[in-house]
Amino acid sequence: MTEVKLERIGKSYGAVEAVQEFDLTIEDGEFLVLLGPSGCGKSTTLRMIAGLESITTGDLTISGTRMNDVDPKDRGVAMVFQNYALYPHKTVFDNMAMALKLQKVPVEEIRDRVGRTAEMLGLTEYLERKPAALSGGQRQRVAIGRAIVRTPKVFLFDEPLSNLDAKLRVKMRMELQELHDSLGVTSIYVTHDQIEAMTLADRIVIMNGGVVAQVGSPREVYDS
Ligand code: ADP
Ligand code: ADP
Repeated sequence: MTEVKLERIGKSYGAVEAVQEFDLTIEDGEFLVLLGPSGCGKSTTLRMIAGLESITTGDLTISGTRMNDVDPKDRGVAMVFQNYALYPHKTVFDNMAMALKLQKVPVEEIRDRVGRTAEMLGLTEYLERKPAALSGGQRQRVAIGRAIVRTPKVFLFDEPLSNLDAKLRVKMRMELQELHDSLGVTSIYVTHDQIEAMTLADRIVIMNGGVVAQVGSPREVYDS
């Protein structure tokens, strides 16, 4: 059971209050979407949960453990970035295997886990290629695969589809949906795209100017 609890989380950059009093519990297995215009504090919120940004005020708890000062790699979270953030000189296999190698997972197990994940994402035939030899959609699958092989307790997605063309975006959105249906991992997904939010979310949080403006199911948010 993985529950992510934000208790009046806030972030200031000097005088700029990027996020204020964000108070919410993300339930086990829930797919939560943070929706809002550019600059409203979505990324900052996600990065605080990931540990890539310090928390100025409030408490972050994952499965009952306070995480404010815990190292990013020890939080049980895996993040997928908009720009993929792949290592250009490494193969697809090595990109996906890297975190497991660092954790000293046995070679056989790495091969097995990367192999199964690649199969799930249709990447098997690309394992020996470098990212530059892949399409945008394939690169994003590698980035997602790299997160999956770590079997995180929480997935964090920062606008993962916004660099893709419209057609591919629709396809990848459906793939993400299927992935969540099959894995059921607690997920927090940042986007400014209303359609992504409506189709993927169990629950939507609308942010504006660093604060939570509305929380509800896609239906509730749409009807209001
Ligand atoms: P979003 O992800 O919704 O586009 P961000 O979380 O990136 O919004 O940014 C929220 C606010 O915080 C913006 O006003 C942005 O300019 C500011 N901000 C983000 N990162 C920094 C930073 N490292 N230093 C100063 N201000 C920042
Ligand atoms: P996004 O809106 O997709 O989050 P941005 O272009 O706002 O992307 O931010 C990209 C990077 O720049 C982030 O790491 C963010 O923290 C940083 N950043 C954003 N706004 C500022 C700012 N006003 N001053 C310094 N860094 C910033």
